[in-house]
Amino acid sequence: MMSRSGFRLESSYTAIQGLNAYRGMWHAHVQGAFPGFIPARELCLRGGYSFLGVTEHDNRFTQMQWSEQDWYAAQSADFLVIRGFEATHPLGHITCLGFLPEQTGVDADAARRIRFEKAQLDAGYGDFLKTAADLGAFLALNHPAKWRGRAHELAGQPDFGCLHALEIYNGNQVGKSLAQGYTPDLLDDCLALGCRIWAAANPDCHSWDTSQADGPFNGYNVVYAGRLTRQAILESLKQGRFYASTGQEIDVITVTGDSLEITAPACRYIRFIGHHGRVLQEDHGERAAYRFTGEEGHVRAELEGHQPSPLSVGDAPARAWLQPVRVIPR
Ligand SMILES: [Zn+2]
Ligand SMILES: [Zn+2]
Repeated sequence: MMSRSGFRLESSYTAIQGLNAYRGMWHAHVQGAFPGFIPARELCLRGGYSFLGVTEHDNRFTQMQWSEQDWYAAQSADFLVIRGFEATHPLGHITCLGFLPEQTGVDADAARRIRFEKAQLDAGYGDFLKTAADLGAFLALNHPAKWRGRAHELAGQPDFGCLHALEIYNGNQVGKSLAQGYTPDLLDDCLALGCRIWAAANPDCHSWDTSQADGPFNGYNVVYAGRLTRQAILESLKQGRFYASTGQEIDVITVTGDSLEITAPACRYIRFIGHHGRVLQEDHGERAAYRFTGEEGHVRAELEGHQPSPLSVGDAPARAWLQPVRVIPR
């Protein structure tokens, strides 16, 4: 998008008009009284979800006795299950969506011996990020609080550039502490370094009891795609055509030549945030427009609702996070 004023905007939302919005979560475990795929689909559909990424830990994969048929049992015209796993990588836990461990060269026997948080390079994780990215997987660094204040070091890790997203909300960790579960500050530090990385929210549910803090649905993403297929969803995720949420919904996102406009029902605040988390503009209410100066580098928007969503962990108000818009001088 060109403006007359000496800069252009680069946004993942410029081409979303005409696409459908699909709500889904992709960091979900299937231990803790997982009801099975078909009951899980029913639960998801009742919550307005269109897709579910099943991403069990790498060290549990060999224990899962599902047949090919089980994985696909819950697929229907209005619901998609995407296979994947959570890798115990030297960078931290990484969601690999769209591919299973052995497809990415992970050694299943070595992976089975992995202990929580202890990456083992002999499990095949040496070239994992590159291999998975080349295959077409969507890759997200999960609950990255351990990198807080060390964005420079994180961004300098081998193959960091293969990652597509950072979890800035992780419901399972929020149940333990807010500082562990919310990491938009780390995203801001990465953006300030010029990293191209998207923001994600997920429940990381280890239980399927919705009354529990580690249950499903308290964090999700709304993805804009032409069709509800594995390929279309993965492609949109990789291109950042989604926003992250803990219950705040967004009706309209419009990027023009020099502005970002947002309409969101039952919204209390819309904040536009620049370098290192600096608030550039704050609007009350359900509608806001930010006019770019050309000096920002990047701007992202954060929304806050009036109340916690019914599935929130704790009493934090529902929130939503848009992907950053890049401001490129001509
Ligand atoms: Zn994890
Ligand atoms: Zn997890």
